[in-house]
Amino acid sequence: MIPTHYCRNTCGYCAFVERDGARANLLSLARATEEIERARRSGATELLIMSGVGVETSASVRRALAAEGFADYIAYLFCIARRALAAGLLPHINIGNVTENEIRLLREATPSMGMMLETIEDLSGEAAHRRAPDKLPARRMATMEAAGRARMPWTTGILVGIGELRESRRASLESIARIHDEHKHIQEVIVQPFTPHAATAMSRWSAPTVCELRDTVRLAREVLPRDVVVQIPPNIAPDIIEFVCAGASDLGGISPDGDRINPDERWLAPRAYARALAAHGFSLQPRLAVHERFINHDWLASEPLAAIPVVRRRLSAHVASPAYGASMTKQSNAAAPQSEAQSFIHTSQDSFAVDTNAASSF
Ligand code: SF4
Repeated sequence: MIPTHYCRNTCGYCAFVERDGARANLLSLARATEEIERARRSGATELLIMSGVGVETSASVRRALAAEGFADYIAYLFCIARRALAAGLLPHINIGNVTENEIRLLREATPSMGMMLETIEDLSGEAAHRRAPDKLPARRMATMEAAGRARMPWTTGILVGIGELRESRRASLESIARIHDEHKHIQEVIVQPFTPHAATAMSRWSAPTVCELRDTVRLAREVLPRDVVVQIPPNIAPDIIEFVCAGASDLGGISPDGDRINPDERWLAPRAYARALAAHGFSLQPRLAVHERFINHDWLASEPLAAIPVVRRRLSAHVASPAYGASMTKQSNAAAPQSEAQSFIHTSQDSFAVDTNAASSF
């Protein structure tokens, strides 16, 4: 679910952001509720809610929030997250930098949140982040620290190929490892390749090679603690066997209605990934939006925790259904952006983990 395409930044690779036009407006609560229902009917178990940063700097968004009776954007998201829980979907919220108070409010209705670090290198003088003050590494780290203090299970990641030095990738991963060491709240780290999009400042840049990505996955596995999984998005980085053999053990989510952030990048059906992995001795297991070790009262508020058994039952039923093996469809007429939520690439989804212990050839 994308509540709005408005963002106060303009990253050099982003085709998501829109400050004028219909897509910069706020999704009405009625439309949001329809999307939740559509996701529920499709068998999805997760509702990814993503937007850019500083949406309340838009007068149009502020007016729409007031018209719907919300004090602010967080109150609006809280309401949507509760509706998702009531429908048997686990919300996962990715809206960029947030404060500790905002996370504490949202944790009453959502079991996990996320935000890409992207890189610990300051690229504020470079094409990627010249017009994106919210991408300053110190701000990203402050948000992840706040998430740790608020005990929010957190997904983050690095973006490979946006002008960062190769050495910075190790430094970025070490920064994530350090923060996890203190708070133990990082559940997964995405290794995401930069993808050039038309009509962006970086449209002529090249995407990283498979070798570069594989080396970064290997580096991530080496640097990160064992309880933090390394994720690759298989529609953007389709050579999954290479990456799984290098240490990735998570494929993120697969949306029943295509990737609304990268609409040209199609997923295969879950069973197709399962078959490809099985041929190399790996098994593919569906998982929830929040990892197992966080499913307890120490980490989750009572409402998200109470929803877990319902979601588990829905997941089992969906995995047994023909829809689980059906082809993924491409979303037409969507933008081709990389957003604040650029690694969190789905509207509503099931997520997948690869059991690398099952591999005979690992
Ligand atoms: S990548 Fe995210 S922060 Fe940057 S302009 Fe796009 S939506 Fe905004």
